[in-house]
Amino acid sequence: MPVATLRFLGAAGTVTGSKFALESDGRTTLIDCGLFQGLKELRLRNWEPLPLPARAIDRVVLTHAHIDHSGFLPRLIRAGFDGEILATHATRDLLGVLLPDSGRLQEEEARFRNETGRTKHRPALPLYTEDEGAAAAARVTGVPWEEPVSVGRHARAAFRRAGHILGAASVHIELPGADGGRRIVFSGDIGRYGAPILHDPAPLGEADYVVVESTYGNRTHDPTAIDVQLERAIGAAVARGGGIIVPAFAIGRTQDLLYHLGLLQRAGRVPPLRVYLDSPMAIDATGIYARHPEEFDEEMRALLERGRSPLRSVDVRLARTPQESRAINAVEGPVLIISASGMATGGRVLHHLRRRLPDPRTTVVLVGYQVAGTRGRQLEDGARFVRIFGEDVAVRAHVTSVHGLSAHADADGVLRWLRSATRPPRRVFVVHGEPAAAQTLAERFERELGWPATVPQHGDVVTLT
Ligand SMILES: [Zn+2]
Repeated sequence: MPVATLRFLGAAGTVTGSKFALESDGRTTLIDCGLFQGLKELRLRNWEPLPLPARAIDRVVLTHAHIDHSGFLPRLIRAGFDGEILATHATRDLLGVLLPDSGRLQEEEARFRNETGRTKHRPALPLYTEDEGAAAAARVTGVPWEEPVSVGRHARAAFRRAGHILGAASVHIELPGADGGRRIVFSGDIGRYGAPILHDPAPLGEADYVVVESTYGNRTHDPTAIDVQLERAIGAAVARGGGIIVPAFAIGRTQDLLYHLGLLQRAGRVPPLRVYLDSPMAIDATGIYARHPEEFDEEMRALLERGRSPLRSVDVRLARTPQESRAINAVEGPVLIISASGMATGGRVLHHLRRRLPDPRTTVVLVGYQVAGTRGRQLEDGARFVRIFGEDVAVRAHVTSVHGLSAHADADGVLRWLRSATRPPRRVFVVHGEPAAAQTLAERFERELGWPATVPQHGDVVTLT
């Protein structure tokens, strides 16, 4: 007996655009509503209508606030979606910062294209505006952890911790049906076990079907402790004498970096240097972290109880206004600039890269996964030039990566999470990975766990029985 239909509308064969439509019990729930990012052929999908009418979707359930999981919401609303939007409380708070920012970036890009004539469409339009982003965020309803909420006549959903960023969840959906119904779990993005600040991923528990991410499906994180990698990278960068640019996601990575920098500075393991946080969103997000102590793990709570605020212990200068940001250009010598976006696809980090990449004394420290087609990936791959604001900028800077800071579990971490299932699922769908990563991970599930695993293609529709 079919209990549900599952459509893969994004993050199938790629890492962005997460969108899974689950139709069951006469209702349609969209799990995640993410924007495609990276390669142009993917970004163009953001302009296409979904294969099902927006009005036919009853509700959206978001695993977490990252734009590749939430950033299509304003488009969905513009297309006529008027159902409820559910997320954890912390995710809801973060969306209040992230979605308007995403709209603002879209508007800036459209303005830039119009001013420079770099557009096929006249005028170039934003995918959505800052106001539409804010309006979408205002519609999100916060739901407590582990509390089952109704997502249909009989279906229920609950959020369990995924340990990825503040508020990040796996979504567990119980569908009614014969022999006890079925339980479908959407992993969301799985965090690293043992990472600082946040709780570890909660056990998977019971599941008949699992839709699991595979960002690092064919990789193992560098086992060298993050503090040691950072200590080396910063030490070498200071010796080069130039600026250190760290493109960082405003949410998650930035707070992890501040935490580690604080530890290194207090222990005298890195030379004294000025640190700038040049991202209004990162500054706001750090404030939201501080408002959600329920998200913190034991270690973080213990530090807080001893009167230490690990996210505020670094002597960090905040650049909120564009003037404050520009003033950093004049700073010579060892200066560490943390600025968004994390893959250098937009944001203020572009100005710093344009100014400092041609200088061989500069160091760029990449601290997260760099999607194919992004400037971050080009730098990681050793590009001699990158295109910024329509100019070819020479890369003479030293580019280095610190791996374990990723907010994603590596392949072994994802296997560890799957092993926390209380019984083997009927099937695992491997999503949110580039094809090679997803395929490698699917093969490992079959070989090491003996569970059937499929890598769905974009647009695939499967019937769950
Ligand atoms: Zn994420």
